[in-house]
Amino acid sequence: MANASTALIDAERTGVHIGGRWEDAQSGRCFAVHDPATGDVIAEVADADTADARRALDAAAAAATTWAASAARERSDVLRRAFDAVLDRRDEFAATITREMGKPLQEARSEVEYGAEFLRWYSEEAVRGIGRSGAWPEGRQSLDVRRRPVGLCYLVTPWNFPLAMVTRKIAPALAAGCTAVLKPAELTPLTAMLMLDVLADAGCPPGVVNLLTTSDPRAVSEAVFADSRLRKVSFTGSTAVGRTLLRQAAGQVVRTSMELGGNAPFIVLPGADVAAAVDAAMTAKYRNMGQACTAANRFLVHESLMEEFGEQLAFRSRQLLVGPGTDPATTIGPLITSTAVERSLRLIDDAVTRGASLLTGGRRIDETGNYLEPTVLSGVTPGSKILAEEIFAPVAPISGFASVDDAVRLANDTEYGLAGYVCAPTKEAGQAVAARLEVGMVGINTGVISNAAAPFGGVKSSGMGREGGSEGLDEYLATQYVSSPV
Ligand code: NAD
Repeated sequence: MANASTALIDAERTGVHIGGRWEDAQSGRCFAVHDPATGDVIAEVADADTADARRALDAAAAAATTWAASAARERSDVLRRAFDAVLDRRDEFAATITREMGKPLQEARSEVEYGAEFLRWYSEEAVRGIGRSGAWPEGRQSLDVRRRPVGLCYLVTPWNFPLAMVTRKIAPALAAGCTAVLKPAELTPLTAMLMLDVLADAGCPPGVVNLLTTSDPRAVSEAVFADSRLRKVSFTGSTAVGRTLLRQAAGQVVRTSMELGGNAPFIVLPGADVAAAVDAAMTAKYRNMGQACTAANRFLVHESLMEEFGEQLAFRSRQLLVGPGTDPATTIGPLITSTAVERSLRLIDDAVTRGASLLTGGRRIDETGNYLEPTVLSGVTPGSKILAEEIFAPVAPISGFASVDDAVRLANDTEYGLAGYVCAPTKEAGQAVAARLEVGMVGINTGVISNAAAPFGGVKSSGMGREGGSEGLDEYLATQYVSSPV
C-alpha cells in the first residue's frame, strides 16, 4: 500500500482517488516524491497506469449527469466551502507545497491564498451562466442561447504551483458542471492529494473529481485520450508536451485549453524610474526562484539606464538568502531538480562565451540541494541561448536597446507570447508599448500580474484559452442555440 514515509501526508491518502475513495494503483506499484532541498524521499504514492485511468474515467462519467444537472447554487456552495477549508488548512497546504516543491514558506503561503481565490471567484461565477433569450431579426423564430457543461475533463498540471494550477482548473470545471480526472505533476502530487480531501469534505460528490498520480504520464494520458467519453483537456506545462497533447486531442476533436511556456520580455523604457523598475524586476524574476511561466526572461533596458539598472539589480540579488524553503529567513529556495541547476549553468556559460558579463552569481551553491546563486548577466548578445529558451531559474539576462522600436522588435522576437512587463515614465507610455507586444498579458510598472479575476493565458506557442476571470469559465462551457417558432 502506498503511504507517506513522514507525517507529511495522511497514510490513507494513497494518491489515486477514484469515485470518492483513496485506492492503491491496480498494479500495486508506488513512486517516490523527493524534497528538492535535501533529495530525501518524503512520500511514496500510488503509481497509476492505464487500467487506473480507465477506472477514473468510468467514475467521472458515472457522476457526470447528476453533477451537470445540479443547481448552480449547490456547485457554488461546494466551491465556497472548499475556499474556506483551504484557508483553514493554510499551514498544512503551505508546508506541503514547500516540502515537495521547494519554494520558501512565505511564498507557499501566498500561493495558498492565490490558489484559494480561484475557488472563491468561481463559487461566485458559478451562478452567472444564465444564457440569453431573444428572437431572429426577422421575428419568425426564437433565438435561445444556453450554456451547458462541456463534459468530462482531463486536467493536467505542472509542478511549479502545486495548488494554484490545480484550483485554477478544478474551480471553473466544477462551477460549469463538469466532472474531471486530475493528473498532477509526478514531482509534486502531495498538494493535489490534500486538495482532494478538502473537496470531499466540502461536499463534492464522489466521482466528480478523480485523481491519478503516476510516474508515467505519457501512457496514462494516451489511455485518457483514447476514451471517447473525454470532451475536454486543460493542460498547463511545457510547450513540447502541449504540442503532443494537441495532436492527441485532434483524434476525437477534444476541446483544448493550453497554458504553455513563456519567454517574458521586461522592458525598461528611457525615463523610467530605475529603483522602481528594479523592485518590479526582483518580483518578476525571483518569485518561485524564477520557475514561473510569467517570469521575466529577458531584461531589455534602454542604453541610458542599462548600467544603473544592472548594478542595482545585482546589488539586490546579492542580498537574497538562498536556502531550504522551510527556513523562515530564506528568500530563494532550491530549484526543482539537479538537472534544472545544470541546465541553468549551461545557459549562463553560453551567454558568457558569447560576450555577456557576469555581474553576480553564476555558480551552484551546495551539491546536496539544488541550489543556484541568483545570477545577473549584462550585455547579453543576440544569438545567446538564454534569450531564446525559457530559463526557469533565478538568472536575469540584461540586453540594451537604442529605440522603442528596437525594444518592441526584440520583445516580439520569440516563439512565445505569454507575459510581458513594461517599466515606463508614465502609464500612457507603458500602454503604448503594451499595445505593440505579442503577448496575452502585460504588467506596466509592476512585477505581479496574476489574479483570479483576470484572464490568464498566452498567444503564439504559449498556448490558447484563458484561466481566471469570466473567460476561465467559458473554457468549460459549450454553447447550445435553440430556436422555435414564435
Ligand atoms: P511538463 O510539460 O514537463 O509537465 C507538465 C505536466 O505534463 C505534468 O503533469 C507531467 O506529468 C505531464 N506530462 C509530461 N509528459 C507528458 C506526456 N508525454 N503526456 C502527457 N502528459 C505529460 O512541464 P513542467 O516541467 O511540469 O512545468 C513547467 C512548464 O510549465 C514550463 O514550461 C512553464 O512555463 C509551464 N507553465 C505554464 C503556465 C501557464 O499558465 N502558461 C503555468 C505554469 C507552468
